[in-house]
Amino acid sequence: MHRTTRLPESLWAATAIAAPDYARAEGDRSCEIAIIGGGYTGLSAALHLAQAGRDVVVIEAAQPGWGASGRNGGQIIAGLRTNPEDLIATFGDDLGMRMIRRMGAAADVTFDLIARYGIECQARRSGWIYAAHGVTPLRDVVEQRRRQWAALGVAMEALDREQLAARAGSDPEAYVGGLRDPRGGVLQPLSYARGLARAAMQEGAVILAGAPAMSLRREGEGWAIAVAGHTIRAAQVILASNAYTSVFADRLYRGLHRTVIPVTSFQMATPPLTGEAAARILPGGEGVTDSRRLLTYFRRDHTGRLVMGGRSPVEDWPSKADAGLLQAAVARTFPALGRPSIDYVWAGKVAITKDKMPHIHMPEAGLIYFIGCNGRGVALCAVMGALLAELALGKAPADLDYPVSAPDQFALHGLRRLGVFALSRYYRLLDRMEAQTATAPRGG
Ligand SMILES: Cc1cc2nc3c(=O)[nH]c(=O)nc-3n(C[C@H](O)[C@H](O)[C@H](O)COP(=O)(O)OP(=O)(O)OC[C@H]3O[C@@H](n4cnc5c(N)ncnc54)[C@H](O)[C@@H]3O)c2cc1C
Repeated sequence: MHRTTRLPESLWAATAIAAPDYARAEGDRSCEIAIIGGGYTGLSAALHLAQAGRDVVVIEAAQPGWGASGRNGGQIIAGLRTNPEDLIATFGDDLGMRMIRRMGAAADVTFDLIARYGIECQARRSGWIYAAHGVTPLRDVVEQRRRQWAALGVAMEALDREQLAARAGSDPEAYVGGLRDPRGGVLQPLSYARGLARAAMQEGAVILAGAPAMSLRREGEGWAIAVAGHTIRAAQVILASNAYTSVFADRLYRGLHRTVIPVTSFQMATPPLTGEAAARILPGGEGVTDSRRLLTYFRRDHTGRLVMGGRSPVEDWPSKADAGLLQAAVARTFPALGRPSIDYVWAGKVAITKDKMPHIHMPEAGLIYFIGCNGRGVALCAVMGALLAELALGKAPADLDYPVSAPDQFALHGLRRLGVFALSRYYRLLDRMEAQTATAPRGG
């Protein structure tokens, strides 16, 4: 575990727009709603609450975008990871359908926020490609997704092996096919986080940076939060610390940290690519995620760098020497590039829940928390923030377009490192077996 609040070096940190002037925790203060965590979720909740005229304070340990929101792949993906029919089967026709519609609109909500507040984050609605690493995932996951969303009126393009290779510029052996979802796209993640923070402040929210919440306790009808030697009192609290929940305060709320397993994801960026081979890689500018359990994802940035992400051999502070696996993935996917040089490497934490679904919990009156993006939150968190705001404004949980569930803790959470290690080995084996049986017919 590390407790530093320094912004890690990354492509995004090097190229982001300047941060606005955040406030500092100076003296005790009170507000209607305190939000712990200044990532996309907390910032979107703050923005929506401030728009509704509420007195809201965001308490961020480091600076907005310091967590996953400033370090991710910047791929804007509509909808939950879980396919629509599975949502209906689990949550029933009414709630399932409301979840599908609301989460299906996540990319629209994100692009609308960016346009409305003029956020300069190189956002491009260039589409999102879901690439299948084998015949079984193509049939059971990717094609299912395309077919189920088509039934709901979303026209995704089916890509066969050659079409996918042409769109991605990848080796035809790398993927057997996939889909292209026109709702998605890409953005500069840290610029987007800073832009959201500026928008929330413009609407009247106060954002405290360098302000780790060290404890949270009941005080009368409300809450008292210890921050940097001061107390912030609030009638309601929203906890939006997600995968970074245990980093600054181990036990902010009982059992909260045991509902997620933080898993590290690692990225590298090449120098801007030039030449003929470079022109063939993602000419349409899409973000690409593959269907592996230990997934690989890639995109170009606005200067033409290739940004590739995947499982991490190390925790939070990687060096270029750790990038061997990702370089090998680049060489495998884009043989014409060989083993490209690296300008930046960085890593971030993804919050995995037991059922791989994001969760909203309200364990007691006046306390709302969101946890578990499971690696997909760039678009989703804008909607999650809006949903948390609706709850804080008094909407009944049953009327929310998302289930408010009871926290579900991992048993043996203390052994999570061992579990992650063992599961990674097993997943890698399954992914390899599926890729080896990639015998989809070519040319059709
Ligand atoms: C490497 C990586 C690549 C990813 N790529 C993609 C992608 O391409 N597309 C996609 O859709 N999703 C992606 N994701 C997921 C996405 O980034 C996250 O789902 C999203 O950013 C989560 O936002 P959040 O606001 O919930 O959490 P975070 O952004 O992690 O914010 C939590 C904040 O809480 C603060 N905090 C924690 N504890 C305290 C405390 N005690 N007091 C005060 N503050 C505290 C932290 O400092 C942090 O800033 C990726 C994630 C990672 C790590």
